[in-house]
Amino acid sequence: MASQPVIEIRNLHKAYGSLEVIKGVDITAHKGDVVSLIGSSGSGKSTLLRCCNLLEDSQQGEILFKGEPVHWKGTGHNRRPADAKQVLRIRTNLSMVFQQFNLWAHMTILQNVMEAPVTVLGRDRAEAEQAARSYLDKVGIGDKCDAYPAQLSGGQQQRAAIARALCMEPEALLFDEPTSALDPELEQEVVRVIQSLAQEGRTMLIVTHDMKMASDVSDHVVFLHKGLIEEQGTPETLFGAPKSERLQGFLKSTV
Ligand code: ADP
Ligand code: MG
Repeated sequence: MASQPVIEIRNLHKAYGSLEVIKGVDITAHKGDVVSLIGSSGSGKSTLLRCCNLLEDSQQGEILFKGEPVHWKGTGHNRRPADAKQVLRIRTNLSMVFQQFNLWAHMTILQNVMEAPVTVLGRDRAEAEQAARSYLDKVGIGDKCDAYPAQLSGGQQQRAAIARALCMEPEALLFDEPTSALDPELEQEVVRVIQSLAQEGRTMLIVTHDMKMASDVSDHVVFLHKGLIEEQGTPETLFGAPKSERLQGFLKSTV
């Protein structure tokens, strides 16, 4: 029997008031899959990612984490997750990395990385610190433990944010444009970390404007257009032989 997908979204619908943003989207990521979401600004990529780990409510459709459906109460615009413990479990297992890093400015890098494992997961402090140091080493900034975020470059801050996400020992990582706030020369250091995570078989959903990264790291690429999947496939077919005119136009506009 095939394994349960880590993340499965079925026929998801999401509106902000009367503005329909996600109009019936299905996405599946099995363990070890890297799925990239591409599309124009405003196509709904961030919203979709935020719906996955329940940072946003959605009005219709199912979200399953390792086969476990999110329990809802209410319907339509009144639909909310019914089980706060389930929300916490899903959210800590789908760790998010944001475009703007979102590190806590008043905490050192080490404190940033070990905070949630201690306060949210109740991990032992000494063990969390050891794990935090090893993840900071892994992303190449083990020497920055005692620095504050403002003392780091953007690329170093984003790598700290990735270490922080990894320190939660999540089932999957969700990236929302992890390189788009960075200067081109700093982008590469973050891309290399994401590449190494892909090589070690991490499950990842990556929203990105970086078509080269999407092409290099993904097993599957999804092109969103106005809240619907316009086309999807392997990077080879999607980038090498795009079928839809919209995707062809989009790819031309990104080079
Ligand atoms: P993308 O990440 O692909 O650029 P978003 O998911 O951010 O797209 O946005 C999709 C649409 O939803 C856009 O029209 C955007 O203006 C709208 N939108 C996003 N967030 C909100 C919000 N909090 N309130 C109202 N509208 C929003
Ligand atoms: Mg976005």
